[in-house]
Parts: sequence; structure tokens; C-alpha cells
Amino acid sequence: MESVFYIKFWGVRGMIPRPGSSFEKVGGRTACVEVGCGSEVLIFDCGSGARALGKQLMRSRAYECRLFLSHFHWDHIIGVPFFEPFRHREVKVDIFGPPGGKEILERSLSSTVMDRNSISRLDELEASIRYHDMKRGTTVSCGEAVVSGAQLNHPGGVWGYRVDFGGHAVVYATDTEHYSCPDRVLVTLAEGADVLIYDATYTPEEYEGKRGKRAAVGLGHSTYEEGAKLARDAGVRHLVLFHHHPDRDDDEVSAVEDLCRNTFSETTAARERMTIELL
Ligand SMILES: [Zn+2]
Ligand SMILES: [Zn+2]
Repeated sequence: MESVFYIKFWGVRGMIPRPGSSFEKVGGRTACVEVGCGSEVLIFDCGSGARALGKQLMRSRAYECRLFLSHFHWDHIIGVPFFEPFRHREVKVDIFGPPGGKEILERSLSSTVMDRNSISRLDELEASIRYHDMKRGTTVSCGEAVVSGAQLNHPGGVWGYRVDFGGHAVVYATDTEHYSCPDRVLVTLAEGADVLIYDATYTPEEYEGKRGKRAAVGLGHSTYEEGAKLARDAGVRHLVLFHHHPDRDDDEVSAVEDLCRNTFSETTAARERMTIELL
């Protein structure tokens, strides 16, 4: 077994890409995370960050990968038409996602106006692409790694994923809202994980509507404070705050990171190009 296990963040923003000089350190691209384990390349979501990842994969001749989609909100699939590997005949991609997702994905892609980049069927792309419905309780073997999934709490549904490899584990849980206590399904999925990547779209004040804005309860997102509670309950080693609000600039993301460290010291805010090595 090749002893490589890393996480690389290509897009960390939620909702919509956010350009601008005060957003550059964190990065403005939307959700896309690469997990390398052994010789396998696993990708979580295909937001606008996937464009740069696709170029990197083609440069390194990584012609086979697996893409795990959490759900089909635009910020998580906006990179699909711009993911270069899809346009090469020698590439094979297995996509895993919510049941019935192939049709949903094709419908949302064909309904967008993107000139020559628009596609209406995955088999119109040059690469060989297969879509697999995730099912409750099933696991996906990727070489020596095992990926398991669970349905979390988000309008229209969302899947969270866990990768186990070489005695270590990483959990990707974005676009998910806590209940009055941490979601027990997610606590179970994240049990003992080395790294938990978690939806920290809102601050607790924003979530509760204390800053003069409308409360964010029921919108399907969470806070750093709930991330810290969850990480403690699940015995997670390292919490990574993810899916930053598009209005949260570099300084504000750093401030949120510091606040979260007061309750869970091993906290890092995800930033584009950041890499975490587990092996
Ligand atoms: Zn999102
Ligand atoms: Zn969403």
C-alpha cells in the first residue's frame, strides 16, 4: 500500500464564488476538496474550485478519479462544465451522489446558458463517466480506502462522506444544519475521525438573527460553535471550518477561527490550496 493520505482544498467558499482582494487569502472559489489516498484520487464536490484541480490532474496524468457529490445546489456543481478531465477521452470518472442524481445533474447543467460549455447529458462528454447512486449503509471501496456516506440535514437533502484509509479517517460534511443538539447521524459518521470538514457558514449570532438580520434557522447550514460541539462529541482530532459565507473576508474568517479555538483548540479555517497530511 502506498502510504499517502492527504486533503487538499481547491474551493472553500459557500453559496457563490467571491472574488476580491480582501478575500484572496481564504479564496473565493466554491466547494471542492481533493483527498489522495495511496494512488487513488477522491474528489468531494465540484464547485468552481474544481477548475484548477482538473488542470492539475491533467498535468499529473491522473486519468482516473472518483467524484463524490454532496448534493446539487449550484455552488457544488458549478465546476462540472469546466472540469478539464471530463473533456478527455482517456479519463475515467466514477461519480457517486444522491439517488437519481444523474438526471438532476443533467437537468441543471442543460438548463444553464453557457455557450459551448453547456452539456445536456454526461455521455456527451469525452471522458468515460459513470454515475452511481449512494444508498444508505453502502460503502465504496477505492483501492485500500473505504468511503461511507450518510444523509444529513439540508433542504432537498445532502450526503456527508467519510474516508477511512491506513487507520486514519477524514469526514466531509458541508451544507448541513445541526438540531438543538449535534446531529447524531453525523456524530456516528465522524466518530474518532482525524479530520472533520464542517459547514461553518454562519456565526452563532447570524444564525440566531442577533445582528439585526433575518435568522438563518432552517436554511440548512451551521456554525463554528456547533462544529466544535460536534467535534467534541465525536472525538474528532482536528476540526476544519468550511463553506465560508461569501461576505466573510479574510480577517473575519481568521477571527472566526480564533473564536472557535477558544472552545476547540485544534481548529483550522479552510483556505484554498491548504493541504493536510494524514500519512
Ligand atoms: Zn453550498
Ligand atoms: Zn446546499
